Amino acid sequence: MSPYNFTATISAMADRTRIVILGGGFGGAYLAKELTKRLGSTEAEVVIIDRNNYFVFYPLLVEAGCGSIEPRHCTVPIREFAPKAELLMAEITGLDVPGKRVRIQHCGADDTHWVSYDHLIVALGSVTRILPDHICSGVKEHAFFMKTMSDAIVLRDRAIEALELANATDDPAQKKRLLHFVIVGGNVTGIEVVGELETFVREACSLYHHVSESDCSFTVYELAPEILGIVPEHLRNWAAHALEKRGISLKTGISVKEVHRDRVVQSNDEVVPCSTVIWTAGIAPNPLLTEMDGLTLNKFGGLDCNSDYSVVDCDNVWGMGDNAAVPGPNGKPMPPLAQIAIRQAPQVAHNIIATMRGGATKPGHVNVQGILVPLGRHKGIASIKGLKIHGVIAWMMWRGIYLMKTPRFGRKVRVALDWIIDLFCRRDFVQLGLLPKSHRELSHTHVEAEHGNDDH
Ligand SMILES: Cc1cc2nc3c(=O)[nH]c(=O)nc-3n(C[C@H](O)[C@H](O)[C@H](O)COP(=O)(O)OP(=O)(O)OC[C@H]3O[C@@H](n4cnc5c(N)ncnc54)[C@H](O)[C@@H]3O)c2cc1C
Repeated sequence: MSPYNFTATISAMADRTRIVILGGGFGGAYLAKELTKRLGSTEAEVVIIDRNNYFVFYPLLVEAGCGSIEPRHCTVPIREFAPKAELLMAEITGLDVPGKRVRIQHCGADDTHWVSYDHLIVALGSVTRILPDHICSGVKEHAFFMKTMSDAIVLRDRAIEALELANATDDPAQKKRLLHFVIVGGNVTGIEVVGELETFVREACSLYHHVSESDCSFTVYELAPEILGIVPEHLRNWAAHALEKRGISLKTGISVKEVHRDRVVQSNDEVVPCSTVIWTAGIAPNPLLTEMDGLTLNKFGGLDCNSDYSVVDCDNVWGMGDNAAVPGPNGKPMPPLAQIAIRQAPQVAHNIIATMRGGATKPGHVNVQGILVPLGRHKGIASIKGLKIHGVIAWMMWRGIYLMKTPRFGRKVRVALDWIIDLFCRRDFVQLGLLPKSHRELSHTHVEAEHGNDDH
């Protein structure tokens, strides 16, 4: 029997409604805050279950990886953000909808527990979509991602490693390969990544004696005819032109079908040597949903929800955020964006409380307010409520808006100071030690082989 009574941390008052939120990310954490604000502590207890005790403030993740802000400054501690909710830092491992309980494994513990609920909200977010091998092989084994804090740091470590290896070789073809970075997926995340990574890698070159900026190359593959399909044509053309002027190659209407540690194979069979492939080609609902008993899912594996956020055919189970297909005002599922999850929170809270008190629920009605894309080097594009802006003003708007949206005063100050320091001082081009051994060994083996294991 476990020495820990984790569920004792959530009160056992029988007359209180227990609202359990799976996932304390943008959707879950904002919902917890909203519920605890609206409900008295004698009426309900709100419990968040998340594997982390923070959530990632995603709009700043790429910058955190590429060094213009300190990585931990793009996290938001859940206990501080929603102090009246109870947080269980645990892996969610199962769900029993008929039995109204969730199975969890508390962090650092070996055994699992059941936590019962009266209302359940599933806000487990999304994962990077990895295509089956017959469409593109080698992604899981060789590609890098941009979805978690460690992904961002691993990419930074990899970029530094590629620079170090390139500096240590006098073979021009190897140098070129090592400093060729490939991004698969030319929508917002892919473009944000290439914009920041290009800045990071080329700025770092000044520290290396045997590497120059012109040795570095960056290629974005996008299967659609154009990058940034989500933004208006005029802005996407402007962005494409700005990136190409910096030497970033945009290959549209084509993708890759094989990813290897030292090359990609394009869909037209052309082989392109490179060292680092970053996979940003779409997202999929959290696959854990498919393992959970009793949830109604759509054909994409997301929660099939009614327009009031309730999950189809599941009593007192609600969905929100990236893992839920909730029909919006136009009847189509609301898009997977933080700005959507945040504004869904008050509506979900209203509907849960209405159900608890015997009232009527309301349909959700959240629209995209605007899209902002930073392109690196103090440039960006912004499309907000009919306003279309590009260049330095759009970049400043991006920073201003996300600084305002960063939760809590202390975090805003930290981020603002990081940005000010970044304007005047060189970034720290150091590894933070997260690059997995598998990737490192492969790269070293290659260069050592060329140099016959000489000390260099
Ligand atoms: C690089 C990047 C940049 C982005 N930039 C923007 C932007 O500028 N603007 C915008 O609007 N959107 C942006 N997004 C999208 C946005 O981040 C998501 O739409 C948003 O986070 C969705 O919120 P969510 O609550 O559904 O999921 P999340 O915020 O991802 O939260 C899910 C939570 O569930 C937890 N979890 C998952 N599985 C388990 C488990 N088994 N056990 C325990 N806990 C678990 C996770 O730890 C996480 O905290 C960006 C996304 C990325 C990847």
